[in-house]
Amino acid sequence: MDTAPAEKKASWRPDWVAIIFIGAYHVLLAALLPVYLATQRPGSGLLIGSLVLVVLCLLAITAGYHRLYAHRTYRVKRPAEWFMVFFGTLATEGSIFRWAHDHRLHHRHVDKAGDPYGTDKGFWHSHLLWMLKEGAPIDPKYISDLKDNRMLQLQDRYYGLWVTLVNVIVVAALFLITGDWLGAFVIGFLARTFVVHHCTWFINSLAHMWGSKPYSSEHSAVNNFILAILTLGEGYHNYHHTFAGDYRNGVRWYQFDPPKYLIWGLSKLGLAWDLKRTDPLMIKKKLVQADRKLLLSHLKDLDLHDQAHAFSEAVEKLSEKISGTIASAKAVTDKYRSLDRRQHRSELKELRMRFRALKQEIQQDLKTWRHLCRVVLSMQPATA
Ligand SMILES: [Zn+2]
Ligand SMILES: [Zn+2]
Repeated sequence: MDTAPAEKKASWRPDWVAIIFIGAYHVLLAALLPVYLATQRPGSGLLIGSLVLVVLCLLAITAGYHRLYAHRTYRVKRPAEWFMVFFGTLATEGSIFRWAHDHRLHHRHVDKAGDPYGTDKGFWHSHLLWMLKEGAPIDPKYISDLKDNRMLQLQDRYYGLWVTLVNVIVVAALFLITGDWLGAFVIGFLARTFVVHHCTWFINSLAHMWGSKPYSSEHSAVNNFILAILTLGEGYHNYHHTFAGDYRNGVRWYQFDPPKYLIWGLSKLGLAWDLKRTDPLMIKKKLVQADRKLLLSHLKDLDLHDQAHAFSEAVEKLSEKISGTIASAKAVTDKYRSLDRRQHRSELKELRMRFRALKQEIQQDLKTWRHLCRVVLSMQPATA
């Protein structure tokens, strides 16, 4: 049909609003920041206020736009939603409908055609350039669960008005507090927007290019502690793309993930509930699968003939055993949850004992697995 080329052409139309806004604030920041710093010394109130705004904007994007709306990993009461919408709008990253729509496409088509910000077209495309062309119209089927939310409808319909209004209010408040109108504009608006934007954009660019893949190598997303700092907790992107339904990104207790603490804190205050977590056994299963792939490819490269073959068999056998035991443990917990506690006491007791035995077996096998990983990865290619 002759509509295809027209559609293709239309999808490459420049988005002049984005080009002018992003271009203008970068130019203004580059021009005004040296002038401001040469003529004035920014007060601590201005610097602290602007830093707090950066943190609030990033939290509203990561905990709100991303984990609440794009992935629905928990539910919130109105006051928490007002916070997410207000500071998310202040971040100037588009409406929640548009953001969630594009992000769902990103997860669905990651690294393939259809991913709006795929890194297959290079760093600058995923970091910035994709925003400078007009996006495809929002397909309602991708936001069917969001489109009846009245607050989100209003945010989307009058987005230009809201984004201007909240930024004017915040910059005016900074001016009234500090008495420094140029500082409020240069640091409180231009520099704050620059930091929030680039930190968010790193999730689309660097978090798909620079880091490790402990959970899955089936997509380009990586884990990187430095990016976790820069993006305020979104640096465990390999975990996120593997288990996108989890409200956490840094699943280990020591991993830096402020939105995880915020969401958990909101749940303790009764403002959030239904926090979705991936079953720890499923996470272990995925880790073993990712290790297995790595070990088999390492053994293939070694060219050690019989020895490599024997190790490959051991890797296959043990990884299959662990996956099988985890599947059995999962079946036991599913059965346990399905039974009525008053009517099936003895059966429940039996299931608890069975689960404990399976868990012990998994722990023992994982210990052997870690040893096997160390041995295989320390093997060197045969020298001539
Ligand atoms: Zn996501
Ligand atoms: Zn991603």
